Amino acid sequence: MKHLTVTAFAVLFAVGSLASAPTAGAQQTFVNIGTGGQTGVYYVVGQSICRLVNRNTDEHGIRCTAPSTGGSVANLNALRAGEQEMGVAQSDQQYNALNGIGAFADAGPMEELRAVFSVHPEPFTVVARADSGIETFDDLVGKRVNIGNPGSGQRATMDMLMELRGWSRGDFRLASELRAAEQAQALCDNRVDAIIYTVGHPNGSIQEATTSCDTRIIAVTGDDIEQLAADNPYYAIATIPGGMYNNNPDDVQTFGVGATFVSTTHVSEDVIYAVVKAVFENFDRFKRLHPAFANLDEAAMITNGLSAPLHDGAVRYFTERGWM
Ligand code: GLU
Repeated sequence: MKHLTVTAFAVLFAVGSLASAPTAGAQQTFVNIGTGGQTGVYYVVGQSICRLVNRNTDEHGIRCTAPSTGGSVANLNALRAGEQEMGVAQSDQQYNALNGIGAFADAGPMEELRAVFSVHPEPFTVVARADSGIETFDDLVGKRVNIGNPGSGQRATMDMLMELRGWSRGDFRLASELRAAEQAQALCDNRVDAIIYTVGHPNGSIQEATTSCDTRIIAVTGDDIEQLAADNPYYAIATIPGGMYNNNPDDVQTFGVGATFVSTTHVSEDVIYAVVKAVFENFDRFKRLHPAFANLDEAAMITNGLSAPLHDGAVRYFTERGWM
């Protein structure tokens, strides 16, 4: 069976299109990368890519920014609306957007979506207060749970899980919709019993939730979860390593997705080529920018977790490197 470990799985991300990149001295091309909350990892992915791209603006004319956003679903919707050129998105949400299902059922298939490469693994992570009585994922029923802001990937994944287990929002004592950056504090202020986050590890949000108060990471397992991972290439069984977080010494099994970098056919080949090149020609530097990137591997990044066709600009670069 597939097993996604925090150290071994990489997802692809796709980049968006623009007009052709101007040459030196010409007008600048501005590109925007959609990320996530500031205490997550997507924000660092976007900021890191932009930092590498902007070192060579003189050469390719591209100027990159990566603001905080609501997360995967918000990024995919913004790409579709032409409000962003690139974005980070969970592998399950990339698949759903491409096919017009789940959170994208009303919008329909996003044929213009393109994958660029995959990044880090994202285990679905549940953290509960130690005094909440929550020991298993099913114990969330009847409790105060932050199910995440609409637009976030974790909310979309949680909606899928709730359907799988036959739960509705009314089954929780409270189903709050706080953004990722707000939820660790809500947990430690005892405003909720548990939080969920689909996210790379380690990250600032779970660090806050495990150091500011007494909490435990809850396993998400079961035959239905095993089946999910077996049936869908964008899901895998995952482990959150013991000892990574305060008071959580043991490995915790869950399932996960991959973070992917995506764009659309509306963004030019030259722009995506320049962005991909900036990342892979500075790969060691990129990997040092966040501990969740430490085990990224080029070969996995161009194959894992990508549902949409690769962007032409990515194909050009990968071909040049002899990777495909
Ligand atoms: N997976 C989350 C989402 O899709 C974001 C995680 C992060 O910001 O690192 O919204």
